[in-house]
Amino acid sequence: MSLSNRMETGTIDLTQTREEFPALHQQVAGHPLAYLDNAATTQRPKVVLAAIMRFYERDNANVHRGVHTLSQRATDSFEAARSTIARWINSSTDEQVVFTKGCTEALNLVAASWGRANLKEGDVVLVSTMEHHSNIVPWQLIAEQTGAKVEPIPVTDEVELDLDWLSNRIDGTVKAVCVKAVCNATGTINPVKEVARLAHSVGAIIVVDAAQALAHTKVDVQDWDADFVSMTAHKVYGPMGIGVLYGKRALLEKMPPYQSGGGMIRSVTFEATTFAELPDKFEPGTPNVGGAIGFAAAIEFLAGVGVERVAKHEEQLTELAERQLEEIPGVTIHGRAENKAGILSFTMDCAHPHDIGTVLDHYGVAVRTGHHCCQPLMKRLGIPATARASFAMYNNQSDVQALVDAVHKVRETFA
Ligand code: PMP
Repeated sequence: MSLSNRMETGTIDLTQTREEFPALHQQVAGHPLAYLDNAATTQRPKVVLAAIMRFYERDNANVHRGVHTLSQRATDSFEAARSTIARWINSSTDEQVVFTKGCTEALNLVAASWGRANLKEGDVVLVSTMEHHSNIVPWQLIAEQTGAKVEPIPVTDEVELDLDWLSNRIDGTVKAVCVKAVCNATGTINPVKEVARLAHSVGAIIVVDAAQALAHTKVDVQDWDADFVSMTAHKVYGPMGIGVLYGKRALLEKMPPYQSGGGMIRSVTFEATTFAELPDKFEPGTPNVGGAIGFAAAIEFLAGVGVERVAKHEEQLTELAERQLEEIPGVTIHGRAENKAGILSFTMDCAHPHDIGTVLDHYGVAVRTGHHCCQPLMKRLGIPATARASFAMYNNQSDVQALVDAVHKVRETFA
């Protein structure tokens, strides 16, 4: 299947698309499942499940070290998966794509390896207030070890990055700027290109958490001019436990290994060990081959539907849900950014988000409740938690209706 941007106008064939996702066709508490927890994890289409199954049924062997046929097939499929992902995110070469366990590991890799080699006392790492904990805590840990400082980039009441603050603050002490491309708590789409320009103007790097962006926007690492980008398969219709770190080759080459062991060395002696070339230097041990194959199958599936078409569809559903929820007394929607992906966070004056989530589940509606691993953002908004509905390519107007009806029930129960 070609990964080129095919015709991406028009609507999604929802009957056909939903047919691809076996998990959607079930009842929860006697109601049809309305799965609106896609920012936490998406469901997987049959083609992804089949690709993983095919690997384990036919080609299962360890990669890179075998001369036998199955090992060669496994290696070819693993490297083909890397190529598919590299092309999709417009990486100029495959070896700039390092397989990881997910976004969390990718960000830990950057903070620990790049941070250890590049940060020192007096240096500053700017991290947006809306970051997921996985793009905050690794920086705090490396700052503690190196003497660098982590400083928050403020966000506005609408949950947009305060770019005025950033352009005033940025100076030669800033070595890294860390932002997410799409906010998992509110759906804000951040101006990554503009942040990259500001970071590069003082010689700092930009680290982009694209966990939520990959399913909803076209990620183009060269257009962003991003130095590092973290991504994860399970939020884009792929399997759990597999993700990638994209890094510019010049940076990755200079970085020390993050973890070590088999597969990442050129030679080992007790006198001196040397390391393999990219990307192997950052991929010690047996990789998640089936996961990588599933990740690539998911990307091909998304490419087949068309990411811009998906984004438009999700935007329409989000707007529909937002309009109807706003009409319910006591509902507050959090995050009013001008550019938003299909994520909708709300609170109610009559019920805690966990109670909202529990009632919704009684009506078959799956949403996430809590701080969404964004405690600094929750503090900024003055709330402990939200209920979050997040949309995917397979959601339909019935899902929105189920959500709205169930929120009415919350009000009837608690108000
Ligand atoms: N960043 C963001 C914005 C996320 O939404 C998530 C998942 N909730 C992560 C990072 C962590 O990704 P992973 O599950 O791959 O570790």
